[in-house]
Formats: sequence, structure tokens, C-alpha cells
Amino acid sequence: MSHLESEFAPLWRGEPPAISPCDVPVFNLDEVHRLQTLLLREAEKVLGPRTHDHTIEPARFAAGTSGRALRKGRVITIDLGRIAATDWQSCVAELGHELVHALDGLTGDQTWLEEGMACAFGVGQAAAMFDSVPMHRAPGAYGEALKMVASIPDQFAVIKGLRARGIPMCRVTPSQLMAAAPGIDAATATKLCERFR
Ligand SMILES: [Zn+2]
Repeated sequence: MSHLESEFAPLWRGEPPAISPCDVPVFNLDEVHRLQTLLLREAEKVLGPRTHDHTIEPARFAAGTSGRALRKGRVITIDLGRIAATDWQSCVAELGHELVHALDGLTGDQTWLEEGMACAFGVGQAAAMFDSVPMHRAPGAYGEALKMVASIPDQFAVIKGLRARGIPMCRVTPSQLMAAAPGIDAATATKLCERFR
């Protein structure tokens, strides 16, 4: 039997084709957008409110990305990737991550601090919703950023306090970070305030 014959034989025999599950995020955009509203509300609760009045559009799925938030003028778009398209836990982790970037309005290059906080929020929300910790959502340098952020005592309250003083995550200085989080060492503070990667 040729490759094509084996693939199509069930159809020739009148059997229904194998179906793929339809309850994946990419086929349930309304639910994805409901989660986006919940996650944004939670992000604003733990990190403080948005510092801008740009529009954050409902997230969409885009090929060739593993999640990104972009701003054009006053409109922020969030693209979710292939893995988030088919796995709810990854979808929550990715959406939560990108919403943290969106909070400060994407006004500068991301720092290790901003990436670490985005990972901590996304992975944390996904873990809370699904009862397992999806560390695979923070690979390589992202995992390193997450570890550094985890070493800051009460990191969400610390960043919320800095943001309340008008200091976005992409422009915190090491001395501001050390003053806000006395437990942190100088080398970690310096690295966290550098541009990511
Ligand atoms: Zn990021």
C-alpha cells in the first residue's frame, strides 16, 4: 500500500476521518480573550495598574512566534505561538507573560528584570490554574531571569512599589532596585537592570 493509500484508505472505505480535538485555544478565541481579561486584572492587582491608556487588543495566534507583545502608536498587539495554540497551560503562561510587558506600555528595551517578572507571572498563573509548574515556558535565559527575580524577597510588591513611583520595569536602576529590595546583592541588581540578552 502506498503512503497515499494508507492515508486515505479509511475515507475510501466510508469511515469517518480521525478527528483532532477541538477544545484547543486556537479554536476557542472567546475563552482565550476571557482569560486575557482575567490575567490582565490579576497582573494589575499584583504589579499595579497600567501606566498608559493604549489599547491592548485581544490576543491572536501567529505562526513563527513563541509569544510577543508589540506596540504601534497607541495600540498594543499580543501574538501567541504554536504551542500556546494547542495547549491551555502554555497559552495562559504565554498570555500572562506578554501582558506583563504590556503593563508598562512597551516604552523601552526589555531588561532581565522585566523578562523575569513576565516569566514569574505567566508561569505562576499557569501553575495556579493547572496544578503543575510549566518551567518549560521559561527556557534558557528566561529561566535565568526567573531565578534572579525569584531571589528578590516579595518581588511583586517591590516592582509594584517602583511602578507606583513612575519607574517602569525597563528603566529601574540598580540603586533603585537595591533600595526597594534590601535583601538583593549588588551583582544581581546590576544584571537585572541590564538589557535582556
Ligand atoms: Zn518576554
